[in-house]
Amino acid sequence: MIGGVNLESVSQSMKNMMGKLNASDRYRKLVHHALDDSDVQSFLEQNKQSLDKDAIVKSLSNLYEFVTEKSKIKNGQNSTIPGYEPKLVLNNHLIDVSYRPTKETINSRKQKQLQNRIKMLMMPKDVKHASLHDFDMDENSSRLNVLEQALNFVKNYHKTNQWIPGLYLYGSFGIGKTYLLGAIANKLAENGVDVTMLHFPSFAVEMKNSIGNNNVADKVDAIKKSSILMLDDIGADSMSSWVRDDILGVILEWRMQNHLPTFFSSNFSMEKLEKEHLSVNNRGDDEPLKAKRIMQRIRFLSKECLMTGDNRRPQ
Ligand code: ADP
Ligand code: MG
Repeated sequence: MIGGVNLESVSQSMKNMMGKLNASDRYRKLVHHALDDSDVQSFLEQNKQSLDKDAIVKSLSNLYEFVTEKSKIKNGQNSTIPGYEPKLVLNNHLIDVSYRPTKETINSRKQKQLQNRIKMLMMPKDVKHASLHDFDMDENSSRLNVLEQALNFVKNYHKTNQWIPGLYLYGSFGIGKTYLLGAIANKLAENGVDVTMLHFPSFAVEMKNSIGNNNVADKVDAIKKSSILMLDDIGADSMSSWVRDDILGVILEWRMQNHLPTFFSSNFSMEKLEKEHLSVNNRGDDEPLKAKRIMQRIRFLSKECLMTGDNRRPQ
C-alpha cells in the first residue's frame, strides 16, 4: 500500500525490520534515537498520507543522518555542511534529507549584503555597528531634533520624488556626530541604498598621495556618484586650495547638479566653516569668494543641524 502510514504501523514496521535484521543493541538504540526525535515524529505525523508504508525502513539511513546532523549543530560541533541545517523532505513517498541555511547563516549573509552597500573609507570600526536605536537623547532637545531629522530623511528618501537634502551635523568633539552618521548609513543600507562614508581629512591626504599615480580623478569619480555621500569631520584639518576646489568643490558640484543628498559632520557651524576654515588655505591666503562658492553647495546639499551632548570619548 502506498500512503496512509500511521505511527502504529511505523513502529510495527520497525519491529519487523529489527527482527529481520537481528539488530544489535547499538543498532536498536540508534533507531529508537531517530524515532524519538520530535522533528522526526512530527514529520511522520504530517506526512502520513503520503509516505510509503516501508518509508521508515527504507529511509532509515536518512533519518539517522538527520538526527545526527541536528545533534552536531545543537552541540556546537562542525556539521557536514557548515552553516546549513538538515530538514526532512518527502521524496517519492520516502524520506529524504535536504539542507537549508541556518538562521545564523541567513543573518550573516544579510549582514554581508548590507556591508557591501556601505563603503566606509578611513572610518573608525565602531561606526559599522552604529544603530539609530542606540541614539541616546535624554531630555536634551537638540539631540531629539537631530534624531527626528535623521528619521525623517530615512523615511522620506525613497518615498518622494522631491529633493531632500542631507544633514550637516555640527557640535563639539565626542558627542556622537560620526556615530549618528554611521547609524543613518546602516539604516539606509538596510533599505537597499548605497552609502559612501569617508573621513574627509584622511581622504584629502590620500588624494594628495594619489597625484603621482594619476588616479585622483578616478577616485573622486567613484566617490561623487554614490547615492548617498557622508563627509565626516569636514574642517578638522586645514585644506589646500587644491583639495578645497579640485576635490571637495568637484564632488559637491556634481552632487548638486545631480541632486544627490550629502551629509557632513563638523565641529564648526556652516558660518564658521566658511569664515574660519574654507576662506583661509593652508598657506594662509585669504580666499573668501572660493569659500563662499563651496558653502553655497554645502548649503544646497544639506541642512544645518546643531547637536549637543556630553563628550563620550575617554579623556
Ligand atoms: P564625534 O564625531 O561627535 O566627535 P563620535 O561619534 O566619534 O563623536 O562619538 C564618540 C564616541 O562615543 C565614539 O567612541 C562613539 O562610538 C561613541 N558613541 C557616540 N554616540 C553613541 C551612542 N549613541 N551609543 C553608543 N556609543 C556612542
Ligand atoms: Mg567625528
